[in-house]
Amino acid sequence: MNKEIAIDGPAGAGKSTIAKKVAEKLGLIYVDTGAMFRAIAFFMTEKGIGVDELDRIKSELEDIRLDIVYENGEQQVILGDENVSGKIRKPEISNAASKFAVIPEVRTRLLNLQRELAKKRPVVMDGRDIGSKVLPNASVKIFLTADVRVRAERRYKELTQKGESVNIEDIMSDIKSRDEQDMNRTVSPLVQAKDAVLVDTSALSIEEVVEVIIKIAKDRNSEFK
Ligand code: C5P
Repeated sequence: MNKEIAIDGPAGAGKSTIAKKVAEKLGLIYVDTGAMFRAIAFFMTEKGIGVDELDRIKSELEDIRLDIVYENGEQQVILGDENVSGKIRKPEISNAASKFAVIPEVRTRLLNLQRELAKKRPVVMDGRDIGSKVLPNASVKIFLTADVRVRAERRYKELTQKGESVNIEDIMSDIKSRDEQDMNRTVSPLVQAKDAVLVDTSALSIEEVVEVIIKIAKDRNSEFK
């Protein structure tokens, strides 16, 4: 049985925080696929390329150099020769990422990179379509969600701690519009895979969610025991 863990869910459900901790506890590599969509959106935005300029997007996708490397266990996103891991976290990039993510060519380009990473070592991979599309045979699949207000509050805390000046109502409307786009696109929409376990984190602490997921992983795959 493979040791792949797929974690999907809407924006701000805590996927990356939880996935990172689960990976640490089980000795797996954490792969954040949202960062890859963010990097593409960052790259296109810097070049002044809009989401409707399909020809330019396709041609840039052929040449773009996007690498995922690890520094002290932390995923770093390298675009060309630049480490863009910090720059892709801005709210405007979140929104642009969701818009570029509807483009099939963007998804195919990243799908290959995601599957290559999973082939190298067992992973905990988080995103929107990991259980349904990227790693359909993952032995453990989780659909992580939380009430939209709770998700907005968590994102607000995270961004203000980083020194960003943000407003909670803006964050909430950004989350809602991203969820709407992510759930309603034709290619690889955000869905709960049939064999995924739903975990609602609204009333749970980070440590509690990590415990719940580790228990599910052990129940589903004896190699995690
Ligand atoms: O997870 P994160 O918020 O960093 O993702 C940014 C955006 O990238 C999402 O809103 C979604 O549109 C897109 N995404 C995706 N498929 C994934 C991961 C992220 O479409 N597997």
